[in-house]
Amino acid sequence: HFPDLAHKRVLITGSSMGIGLAAARAFAAQGAHVGLNARRAPAELAEILQDLRKDGGEAEFFAADLADSAACAKLVDDFVARFGGIDVLINNAGGLVGRKPLPEIDDAFFDAVNDLNMRSVLMTTRAALPHLRASAKASGQSASVISVGSIAGHTGGGPGASLYGAAKAWLHNIHKNWVDYHTQDDIRFNIVSPGTVDTAFHADKNDEVRQRISNGIPLGRFGKAEEMAPAFLFFASHAMSGYITGQILDVNGGQYMP
Ligand code: NAD
Repeated sequence: HFPDLAHKRVLITGSSMGIGLAAARAFAAQGAHVGLNARRAPAELAEILQDLRKDGGEAEFFAADLADSAACAKLVDDFVARFGGIDVLINNAGGLVGRKPLPEIDDAFFDAVNDLNMRSVLMTTRAALPHLRASAKASGQSASVISVGSIAGHTGGGPGASLYGAAKAWLHNIHKNWVDYHTQDDIRFNIVSPGTVDTAFHADKNDEVRQRISNGIPLGRFGKAEEMAPAFLFFASHAMSGYITGQILDVNGGQYMP
């Protein structure tokens, strides 16, 4: 239980399914006000919102394609218009886009991977910064930015995922600069770095490949999206992690130990 998260205003990008939606459910269960986002509303949006609101928190969905800088700024504006500010930003939207080995990487693929995984995080964080600063000032508690990194940011990524892995390493790194220059604003920056989590992200893998991957994980299985959620709650809570910033928390069943 994280009592200080009740009524916190939490924007989670890329949260129509998978890790982002599981995090949204966990925050809502603490009584937080949660903003969901994806390019388009999911088919089951009404049920999702009803479920998120059942513990007394508020929840809203905001459509925005975060590969586009203007859409990142608009998402933040829309969230603030609805909730009056931002206390916690979770940069979760991201993905492979596709798999291409080096000889096949063209400008369009380069842009698509980097726009989704790097531009989205930078531009959303940039737009949120004044609101996070205002949150910390008004509440006397640190505001929190949590970005979703990846095991690929440590290891380089799997087949055809070099740009994706590099983009995640870029996130791991750019946070360090943000810590240096925005701690004065009382904003903390941390990364949740998942290993292999059973979401649509791995839809391209058959049972044999999944078994081979599982064999390389000390816990012997893929992680579940819900198993990522407590790490977000921890970094969002000033009471739990008010002195923790600039860290990467690897949630990976032991698959990789930095
Ligand atoms: P997912 O495909 O289930 O969910 C991705 C979410 O992002 C969806 O809600 C989707 O609608 C949204 N999204 C995609 N493109 C978007 C865009 N342009 N604008 C706005 N939203 C967009 O995947 P997931 O596994 O839940 O991944 C979530 C995050 O975790 C990603 O950053 C991913 O790179 C990272 N990650 C996943 C794993 C894993 O094994 N699943 C491992 C390491 C890191």
